[in-house]
Amino acid sequence: MIEQYAAPISIEEATRVMQESNATVLAGGTDLMLQTESGKQQFGSTLVNIRHINEISGISIGNNRIRIGALTTISEILGSDKLMELVPVLAQTADHFASSQIRNNATVGGNLCNASPAGDMIIPLLLLDAEAELASWSKGGVVTRLVPVAEFFSGPGKTHKRDDELLVAIEFPVPSFGFIAYFKKSGPRPALEISTISIGVAGALEKEALHATEWPSVQQRQSPCVPGGSKPFSRGNRSTARSFLKLPTWRRMKHCR
Ligand SMILES: Cc1cc2nc3c(=O)[nH]c(=O)nc-3n(C[C@H](O)[C@H](O)[C@H](O)COP(=O)(O)OP(=O)(O)OC[C@H]3O[C@@H](n4cnc5c(N)ncnc54)[C@H](O)[C@@H]3O)c2cc1C
Repeated sequence: MIEQYAAPISIEEATRVMQESNATVLAGGTDLMLQTESGKQQFGSTLVNIRHINEISGISIGNNRIRIGALTTISEILGSDKLMELVPVLAQTADHFASSQIRNNATVGGNLCNASPAGDMIIPLLLLDAEAELASWSKGGVVTRLVPVAEFFSGPGKTHKRDDELLVAIEFPVPSFGFIAYFKKSGPRPALEISTISIGVAGALEKEALHATEWPSVQQRQSPCVPGGSKPFSRGNRSTARSFLKLPTWRRMKHCR
């Protein structure tokens, strides 16, 4: 039951409250409200509304890295010219995400923390080797740690984020020239639908064939393909991707740069 409501305006304030109480974080509320109403999730004693923390919102680019604040909405991702230019797969994914009303409230951080296997934004972030920045309050100050998105989830609906940790941002390197990535999802209806199956493919296109990029972390993958929806967060193989995408060639995928 909610006994206290907090609306912090800084990471410091938010993490202090989260450290001192049994907190439930409210971002866009598009998952949380349904889950608490249905009884799937219980509120903690303190509801922490993070919508007023400006420093965890927005998109910035510097030192060859892209940083997306956890509070950035799906609409903001879709409307970002910079992301469209550098990582069109993010805008492409956002374009398949729910309705405009939901996109205006739903945040990328909420999508990750909810950890649904049907979470759309997880797929491109895995392809981009993104890292999640988590903040908590310890010994009188804010401490942060970076967790690769690939290691962020511990199962459907579960993450390795501690209850006292706030997801602050998601970061990844600006993709190198020639990197391409593609997202596709399918559900019972053609639009406004949570996916039954989703898939992402990324790599470098050379002579009609998709190759792993020069990024070491991409090379570690068995194949540059990430399925979601039915099988959460596992790596797939190229033939699965090809048959789902029905691609005789990879040409339909957009170049990142
Ligand atoms: C009608 C409808 C359609 C939808 N369609 C889609 C769809 O097409 N694709 C899709 O992927 N999802 C879809 N969703 C699910 C939902 O909109 C997304 O998962 C959304 O991104 C959640 O973000 P939020 O800001 O609303 O999170 P919230 O509901 O506020 O929070 C979700 C969870 O994450 C925690 N949390 C949120 N932010 C943080 C943070 N910064 N740090 C720590 N914990 C945090 C909350 O405590 C809560 O447990 C849909 C939902 C609805 C209701």
